[in-house]
Parts: sequence; C-alpha cells; structure tokens
Amino acid sequence: MADVSSNSLPDTTGAVQRRRVAYFYDNEIGNYHYGQGHPMKPHRVRMTHNLIVNYGLYKMMEVFRPKPVSAAQMTRFHSDDYINFLRTITQDNMNEHIRQLQRFNVGEDCPVFDGLYEFCQLYTSGSIGGAVRLNQGLSDIVINWSGGLHHAKKSEASGFCYVNDCVLAILELLKQHQRVLYIDIDIHHGDGVEEAFYSTNRVMTASFHKFGDYFPGTGDVRDVGYGAGANHAINFPLHDGMDDVAYRKVFRPVIAKIMENFRPGAVVMQCGADSLSGDRLGVFNLSLKGHADCVAYVRSFGTPMLVLGGGGYTLRNVPRCWTYETSVLVGADIDDCMPYNDYFMYFGPDFRMHLPVSNMENLNTPEYLEKKTERLLEVLRNIEGAPGAQINTGQPGTGPNVPTAGDGDDEDEDMRDPDERHIPEGKRGGGDAGLEMDVDS
Ligand SMILES: [Zn+2]
Repeated sequence: MADVSSNSLPDTTGAVQRRRVAYFYDNEIGNYHYGQGHPMKPHRVRMTHNLIVNYGLYKMMEVFRPKPVSAAQMTRFHSDDYINFLRTITQDNMNEHIRQLQRFNVGEDCPVFDGLYEFCQLYTSGSIGGAVRLNQGLSDIVINWSGGLHHAKKSEASGFCYVNDCVLAILELLKQHQRVLYIDIDIHHGDGVEEAFYSTNRVMTASFHKFGDYFPGTGDVRDVGYGAGANHAINFPLHDGMDDVAYRKVFRPVIAKIMENFRPGAVVMQCGADSLSGDRLGVFNLSLKGHADCVAYVRSFGTPMLVLGGGGYTLRNVPRCWTYETSVLVGADIDDCMPYNDYFMYFGPDFRMHLPVSNMENLNTPEYLEKKTERLLEVLRNIEGAPGAQINTGQPGTGPNVPTAGDGDDEDEDMRDPDERHIPEGKRGGGDAGLEMDVDS
C-alpha cells in the first residue's frame, strides 16, 4: 500500500474535508494527433482516464461529457478571424492560406492536423463547462485534464496551444466571482493567461516556471502587472533541477500570501506535468508527491477550484501524475501498485504509481529561492488592504473593460522597483486583450 496519506493533506481545520468533485472527459480527445514525432500527445488524456477508471476513482466523482462550446464562446477572448481560421484550415487547403498560417503562428510547433478545431472545442468545452458548474455551486472542484493550454494568445497559436481554455474559463468565473486566482505549475510560463489579464486586478496570475533561455521567454520576477493590474501578476523564475523540498518551500508561502491578501472567489489551477522529473522537454526534478503537494495545498483552502492539465511529454508519467492528483482531489488513498489497465505495458517494468527522481543537481540555491520569495511577498504586500481585496465595487459588464475591483489606486510609486519592466502596450501583442473582453456576454 502506498504511503499517500501524507498527501491527503489536512485542511486548515485539521481534518481532510470531503469535496464534491466533478470530472469532465470526452473519449474522442485521444483520437487527435499533432503529427509524427510531435511531443504533444492527446492520447495521454485517454491513458489518464483509463487509469482513473481502473483505480475506481470515477466512483468518487460526478463524471460528465462536456457539451461542445460554440465558436462565439471562444471569441469572448479570441479574435473572430483567428477562430474562423481554425475552423476552416485543413491540411488540404493549407497552400491557399500561407499568409494566415504565418500570421496566426500555425504550421510548426502548432501544426494543422485532422480535426484541429474539434480538438480545441473538446478541451475548451470541459474547462468552460467546469467553470459553469462551479458558478452554479454544484461542485466544489472540477477536473478537466484535457485543458490547460495556457500559451494561446488572442490571435495566435503558441507552444502547442490554439485556444486558451484557461482564459475562457476565468472569464466564465468572473461572471460570478469578483476575483479569480490562476495558478500555473507547468514548467513553462503561463504567458497567454498572464497577458490576457495583465491590466486587471480582478484576476491574479501566479506562475512558477523555468526561466532563462527557455520557452516562451517571459515570466521575469519584475513583470508584476500593469495599470490597475499592477501587483496582480506573480512570476517565480526558476532554474533546472527544482526538487520537492525546494518547490514546496517557495510555493506554500507565496500561495498563502495570495490567498490572504487577494482573497479569490475561485481558483483555476493549471497542473502541467512537464515539471516532473524525467520529462522529455522539462528540466525539473519533482516527484509525483512534490507536484501533487501543490494541488493538495491549494485544495486545503476550500475555495472553488477548476483543475486543468497542460504540458507533460513523457507519456508514461502524465497519467501517473494526473491520476494521483485526482486521488488527492477526491481525498482517497490509492495503491502504489497499479491496477491492470488498457495501457499497462507503458508502466513497466515495475508497474508502480510513484516515480523515482533523478540525482540531477538543483541549480536553485536556498539563498536564490529565499530572495525571490521575499521579493514576491513584497509585491503581494502592495495589495494588502487594497480596496480591490476588500470591497466589491467593480460591476461586471459595465463597459468594454474587465472592470477593476475598487476605485482605489493601489499602485505605490515608492514601492516600485526602479528596474521593474513595464512592457510597452504595443509590445505585448494581445496584452490588452483583457481590456476588450466582455465578461457579461
Ligand atoms: Zn509546459
């Protein structure tokens, strides 16, 4: 029997609380292929589902097949011409759309493949459907492992992502909640989500990622948001070799301070599994327990939670990660010895849930991590007692902007670091997309 009880972490009240958990899945998702040799494999979501079923975890959740969202729902964030392009582009008509392919960054990392639009619709439907369920108060936690495609921009595909289901789910949650927190533990910076909400204080984004000569290149600790959104983008830049102990030591205090000062009504958590040890593209050294500890910690606050997938490129480890995190979310202990399942041979030679980590060096020194943690806690102190965190004066849907919460200007010039980067508006691409989103539609 696996010793997983330590991961069913106690709530702040001291007992593991039961939660009403819903799970969104469509079996079609595993049929899509990015193309030969491409590291992103939607099949991993079907493998995850099969393992969840064989562990019996589906009995502890309400299981839903998402209702497909319309193109109009996707254009709450994305531009009409980009979504139209995704609907019409096929491998057969690609030659007639060379300029559009370049403009929308489709073709290489983000290839055209059979059923591309339906694939986007499937993963997005689970995330928006999950947000609706949380808004209705029917579930405490909703899981959509096919979602979490955090790099997509308003009018551009990026990093294997086409439609940004995280942004669309947050927009849905903003109909019901004054403040929404986005947490991203993928090894890559959650750039698409940060950019969408960079200038609003109704959404805080917090991303922990490898930074420095690594995709997508953004996520500097100095990038903290703009205008009303100042101090509402939190970026923890990390180096190779992050291990469980180090990750927990930075994740917990930052998230605790966010929960205390920002006080979100709902949390969207992107659980990219490419931050695990041995990932094909990743360079961290987390075990399943270290990764899931973040999920357990966020769960312990009892805030309504939408849990999404994301990256994850070592095929046998992604189902392990997300199945284990499903067990943590439902509050069940599962056996380290895997049950027989449709993809059993992937998990040899020992057929165990948990992975050994490697002996790679952690290039993040304790001093480095402490310094960055302190710096981010300082950023978060700027919103302490800010009107946005206290009074709900922002009214959704009163104009073209995502309204700010409160009229108070919580930007203190003296507190601002002199070398803090304010990226010029024109440089951020869809950086002000947040200003154009109608949260009431
Ligand atoms: Zn990633």
